[in-house]
Amino acid sequence: MNHSFPTTLVIGTTNAAKQCEISVLLEPHKIECRSLRDFTNAVSVAETGSTFAENAALKAVQQAQALNHWVLAEDSGLVVDALQGAPGVYSARFAGPQATDAENNTLLIEKLVNTPRDHRIAYYACHATLAAPDGTIKATADGRCYGHIAESAQGDRGFGYDPYFIISEYHQTFGELSQAVKSLISHRGRAIRSIIPMIVKSLLPSS
Ligand code: IMP
Repeated sequence: MNHSFPTTLVIGTTNAAKQCEISVLLEPHKIECRSLRDFTNAVSVAETGSTFAENAALKAVQQAQALNHWVLAEDSGLVVDALQGAPGVYSARFAGPQATDAENNTLLIEKLVNTPRDHRIAYYACHATLAAPDGTIKATADGRCYGHIAESAQGDRGFGYDPYFIISEYHQTFGELSQAVKSLISHRGRAIRSIIPMIVKSLLPSS
């Protein structure tokens, strides 16, 4: 593998579903994307930040420095009004440090059991950060997607909280909607599309 290939971008996530959602958006831009799984020297980043932006920066900077590559990292999660913003940055570990999606979803629904539909408003948030090989942050972008939390699971697409996250305009969850629709309206789709021009400018300066 030629590690100095100028257009290589490492997608700084170990989540296969996220990796896939991000790679699809970068495909048309002739940027060679790699995954953390392609490297034996990727580091395990402690997500100690209290905001999505802080955690995205930790992931982007630490992986860029460890790999000596451009890294696009993101931090994302579900923010529920009736739970005072929880699970927020703890979305992946809502039900415990090694929690599965199913365990997180069960806890979410338990906590909302007495919350009527009109008060189950939520949004997904994503903060994307691009770091240069020396760890300097070169660009950031945010994306949000609003909806509400269903009382029972609907659909088996997506990952995480998707079977419970209803997009009001579609009356369907991200568990039911296609990947193409999710990509158009999701927090991650919005954040990644916003940061792409800055990625192109940084990695393909002559384009
Ligand atoms: P992170 O990998 O630390 O950013 O944690 C992200 C967590 O937020 C995931 O494990 C999910 O629980 C949740 N999450 C973020 N984006 C999505 C999404 O698009 N669908 C479903 N759950 C998501």
